[in-house]
Amino acid sequence: MDKNFQEEITQIIKFEPPLYKQRYQFVKDLVEKYKPKKVADLGCADCSLLWMLKFCSSIEVLAGLDVCADVMKEKMHTLSPLPVDYLQPSERSLTVTLHHGSVAHKDPCMLGFDLVTCIELIEHLEESELKKFPEVVFGFMAPSIVVISTPNSEFNSLLPRVMLYRHPDHKFEWSQAQFQSWALETARCYDYSVEFTGVGHPPAGMEKVGFCTQIGVFVRKYPQTGESVQSEKPMEAAYKTVFKAVYPSLKDEKYLQNAVINEVIFTAQIIKHRLMSKREEYSDDPERKSKFQASVDSFSDYLGKLVVEKNMEPFVSGNEVHIPLKTIFSVPKVNRLCGTFEKLCKLIEGKVTLSSDGSAVMFNIEHENEEN
Ligand code: SAH
Repeated sequence: MDKNFQEEITQIIKFEPPLYKQRYQFVKDLVEKYKPKKVADLGCADCSLLWMLKFCSSIEVLAGLDVCADVMKEKMHTLSPLPVDYLQPSERSLTVTLHHGSVAHKDPCMLGFDLVTCIELIEHLEESELKKFPEVVFGFMAPSIVVISTPNSEFNSLLPRVMLYRHPDHKFEWSQAQFQSWALETARCYDYSVEFTGVGHPPAGMEKVGFCTQIGVFVRKYPQTGESVQSEKPMEAAYKTVFKAVYPSLKDEKYLQNAVINEVIFTAQIIKHRLMSKREEYSDDPERKSKFQASVDSFSDYLGKLVVEKNMEPFVSGNEVHIPLKTIFSVPKVNRLCGTFEKLCKLIEGKVTLSSDGSAVMFNIEHENEEN
């Protein structure tokens, strides 16, 4: 390569978005594609990738592991639920856990994951750790998918200021051939297939150099049997849990009940409001008053496409407004939250004022009439 040309390239290579963001986006795309429920990030450092992944709706269990507890603790508070998570609990459940330990050791808390990510980790491992790594990740954890990224040393000549390695803590940096031969051998040993790709494109005309970050995506060939999970289980924990957050979720009966009560009262209030404003509209004129009933009968204009069947119409009797539970249940959001009418009744029992036969939400408007 012409030296001047190489120098010119060295000046202009600047990845946009930055390379680390491209790596995280690669993992996010993989999560969108395979929709894993349980994801572990090994060598999670300051938890930036974990933070990004907590927004992926398929994930219910997220775990991080790092040998350096201090770096994990730096931003681990960002993995805690926010007030809004309590105000509007999600339909999915989510638990985030951080462990302090080494990928050279097995711990039962790392069993049962669907996806394991090792982003820019292996080049930080000592020779003895790297030797144990395949058995821990592919043999013991044995997730359906493993993604490993590592620097491609062939790209280094294009990067400014790289002396021996890109980072002082790197123990090695591999060429494409070195990474691929290690990955293929690991995949062969543990019955995985592996495909190679990367992020950080080389400049035009220099495609042979390969990606700046090389990535191997390993997919387990055969489904794991329950037996092998059990028999491999070690007796003792090797990691220390340093953080655990359980997000509020509608799967938890306590949050579901709150959400249902709020939604039932909110819906009933809207229906009542519509009903009362219609009533007022028609109340002065006797002819219009009879039209009022007809209008209530065809009560299908409120709340979009609410289906009104016989005996589902809300009505006013003296000082009481009755909003049938069946009507409230037919509102899509309430319906989705509860699933069955019986569940709706059970969740609001004793928490919402109902008519004596329990079939309708009841409001007393005596006070409101007085105010008017
Ligand atoms: N994955 C992160 C950080 C990469 S730096 C990212 O892409 O931004 C590598 C990380 O691996 C460091 O935080 C380091 O502490 C951790 N690490 C090094 N050796 C380890 C080991 N044996 N077990 C677990 N983590 C290790």
